[in-house]
Amino acid sequence: MAERKVRVRFAPSPTGALHIGGVRTALYNYLFAKKHGGDLLLRIEDTDSQRFVPGAEDYIIESFKWLGIKFDEGVGIGGDHAPYRQSERRDIYKKYVQQLLDAGYAYMAFDTPAELEEKHKEIPNFQYDAHTRMSGINSLTLSKEEVEKRVANGEKYVVRIKVQPDEDIEVDDLIRGKVVINSNVLDDKVLYKAADELPTYHLANIVDDHLMEITHVIRGEEWLPSAPLHVLLYRCFGWADTMPKFAHLPLLLKPEGNGKLSKRDGDRLGFPVFPLQWKDPKTGDMSSGYRESGYFPEATINFLALLGWNPGIDREIFSMSELIDLFSLERVSKAGARFDFEKCKWFNKEYMMMKSDDEITKLFAPILEEKGHACDYDKLKYIVSLVRNRVSFVNDIWNEVNYMFEAPTEYDEKSVKKRWKPESSTQIPELMQVLEGLDFANVEENEKTVLAWIESKGYNLGGVMNAFRVAVVGAARGPQMFDIINILGKEETYARVKRALEVLK
Ligand code: GLU
Repeated sequence: MAERKVRVRFAPSPTGALHIGGVRTALYNYLFAKKHGGDLLLRIEDTDSQRFVPGAEDYIIESFKWLGIKFDEGVGIGGDHAPYRQSERRDIYKKYVQQLLDAGYAYMAFDTPAELEEKHKEIPNFQYDAHTRMSGINSLTLSKEEVEKRVANGEKYVVRIKVQPDEDIEVDDLIRGKVVINSNVLDDKVLYKAADELPTYHLANIVDDHLMEITHVIRGEEWLPSAPLHVLLYRCFGWADTMPKFAHLPLLLKPEGNGKLSKRDGDRLGFPVFPLQWKDPKTGDMSSGYRESGYFPEATINFLALLGWNPGIDREIFSMSELIDLFSLERVSKAGARFDFEKCKWFNKEYMMMKSDDEITKLFAPILEEKGHACDYDKLKYIVSLVRNRVSFVNDIWNEVNYMFEAPTEYDEKSVKKRWKPESSTQIPELMQVLEGLDFANVEENEKTVLAWIESKGYNLGGVMNAFRVAVVGAARGPQMFDIINILGKEETYARVKRALEVLK
């Protein structure tokens, strides 16, 4: 058989915000596709109307835009296999359901929810399968006429796959190797529901992967239990030759302890588990996102790429194109990947350090505006350059520079106690006289002049400058004082000192 072009898909169900684990799945699909010169599709699996959440699809699309994961085909893009939203493909699935029924691989079942519940009560661990199906109300136990009559009467039936018993089903997984499961543990899964004329996930997923010529199914480990059924379906349809290869990715584990990373861990430990902020349309609950928390998309990508995959080289910072070059499924681990949130912050700081003052200034400008302040671009860039290496997030710059825009309304008690000495009340007015004749823009010049003056007076350098800082900034923090007063200008500096002398005396 000729080598097929690599085609992979990310196939989320729009049931809410996209979990960060789903983002990693999409990322690995993207890296794999690009590495092999293939295509990545975005398919929306919205056949479960009960779990549909409005806004989820737009959220998913916006998340990938922010992250820089580009799809070649799919919802919002189009392509040869449109439509890519499963709810718009009803007629296609109906045909394939009929094919399975005609071939005897599936059957119609009329058991009502109440009847099924009865069975659950009667038989411990009841499941609809080879051992129980002949006691059900279905097209295997009813006459053809009876079935037709029920359908004509509009009775709501489901179509179930007829799983043959006592058979070992092999799933070849590119990460886990060969996984063998005996068909006796499988139940006759529902493939189609007449009530809403829609297939279930299993059928729609297989039919679409086939029709969309998917070559590799790369998805979360939670789907591994469905894989044997999927293998069976490929066989029933006669598509075994072109069945995609499976790769089930390891779980993302809680930062500490056992189990899967959940939204609750994020709430408890204070980190986002969603790429973007999300407002639950039902409850109105807000969940934080990586974007709004100030993460750079490149840092988020770099962090996620290494959660469960290692490039085999002793380095941690990789651009998207380097990740594409290095990616391989062989280097994805079988074991769960522990979510280390501190590491994520570390990545952000690394990416922050790689950015130019211009880039950071442009990102900070809207934050400053939100705080109600306007600032000339060059001046803002100067301010940003002074503090940018102290923080891991652009959002945190504000806390480093707020006093440059808002005069202190109170003075930090600890700083005052330690830095404002009895002699400060005389030294600071003297300093102000020295500064009076200077041009505040000559930062280096001023530093020299003031230092010479301090020395000539025999004052303690730290003592004078620390008191000056407390007076102007309100606390013992911030960059060089001569930079600060250059930014504030003469008038503002004098006003602040005057007030401090009144309050602190
Ligand atoms: N709709 C499934 C999901 O929400 C797709 C699983 C798969 O990739 O087969 O993840």
